[in-house]
Amino acid sequence: MAKVNNWHLRREMEYPLEGSRPKRQWAIIFDLNKCIACQTCTLACKTTWTSGRGQEYMFWNNVETKPWGGYPLGWDVRVLEKLGPQEWAKSGEYLGKTIFEAAPPSEKAVHFAPKDEDWMYPNLGEDDCAGANQDSGGHVASLPHDKWFFYLPRTCAHCTYPACLAACPRNAIYKREEDGIVLIDQSRCKGYGECVRACPYKKSMYNPETRTSEKCIGCYPAVEQGVQPQCVVNCIGKIRVMGFVHPPAQAKKDNPVDWLIHEKKIALPYYPQLGLEPNIYYIPPVHADPEYLRQMFGPGVDGAIERYKALSNDPVTAGLLCLIGSTDRIMHRFEVKNGEARGFDDQGKELVSVPVTEPFIERTAFDAKIGAIRNNTP
Ligand code: SF4
Ligand code: SF4
Ligand code: SF4
Repeated sequence: MAKVNNWHLRREMEYPLEGSRPKRQWAIIFDLNKCIACQTCTLACKTTWTSGRGQEYMFWNNVETKPWGGYPLGWDVRVLEKLGPQEWAKSGEYLGKTIFEAAPPSEKAVHFAPKDEDWMYPNLGEDDCAGANQDSGGHVASLPHDKWFFYLPRTCAHCTYPACLAACPRNAIYKREEDGIVLIDQSRCKGYGECVRACPYKKSMYNPETRTSEKCIGCYPAVEQGVQPQCVVNCIGKIRVMGFVHPPAQAKKDNPVDWLIHEKKIALPYYPQLGLEPNIYYIPPVHADPEYLRQMFGPGVDGAIERYKALSNDPVTAGLLCLIGSTDRIMHRFEVKNGEARGFDDQGKELVSVPVTEPFIERTAFDAKIGAIRNNTP
């Protein structure tokens, strides 16, 4: 085992391979307060990449309802149970073990293999509530409000310390230097399925037709052209932004994803305690059970929610959130000035400009110019 630095854990950790960070690291941020589970992202990925034989059950992007849903079934509960106690110090340092540190001597990581039927119900638990009185038979009886659920969209996290890569006996999995995207070399893969077992997020999947494992490719052909992935640009709720995240010491204040992750700390990695330094980040839902959210997003979740709720006093972050979903290009820089939010590409060219506050336009009931009467009859 090598010693590597994992900034999500605020400490060094053991990893089966020598760690090296890529020049740039692909990352997606999701605002969970806005996801409506329309599954447009899921279908955008499906129709682009996984419409072939043997891929029928595959959703490289999926959206599950928490706390009950999971694709494959119970993926998170099962790995968390195997991991054992997961405590955080007040300083934010993780005190428990990661899946690499808790692995038995003969294994690379704590793992489990989903069965075929575990992949068969991607929407199980959809819209099912948790909280007090969830079985009271109707939403009216128990309002106001302890019941909660939220939607969790997920792709491969193109982890800084991928368990899939560490577990592959064929060295078929590699992490690209230029953007940190993790890929499976289909010509080397023999379908042993070690990556499927080792990935705690269960984002590597077996294709029985080709007898190889396959996974989200981060839409690298688009990313190479400066365009965001399919699941991002097609998001109906405009909850997603893809960019390049830096480790804390190299974070740039004008980089959109660095701003949300490092500067404002409102976007958090999920299940950071697993130890992979996953590169998908979430703005946590403000209404869900805090204990549950702490387990999922770590100790920073309470502060993140407080800051999100106070966005009306933070025009820069509020402006940046207006830019999300407003361009299909990758934003490398942003600025918010004079009520306008602007996004720029890697050459400094302006990609998009949006008003931070939508103008309020009141129209008269009679439009003399076109001789039309307008009314507000529904
Ligand atoms: S397209 Fe966007 S809003 Fe719809 S389910 Fe996917 S992430 Fe959520
Ligand atoms: S999420 Fe899983 S499949 Fe994706 S890079 Fe991390 S370990 Fe590999
Ligand atoms: S990044 Fe591309 S390949 Fe990955 S889940 Fe999104 S659409 Fe699919």
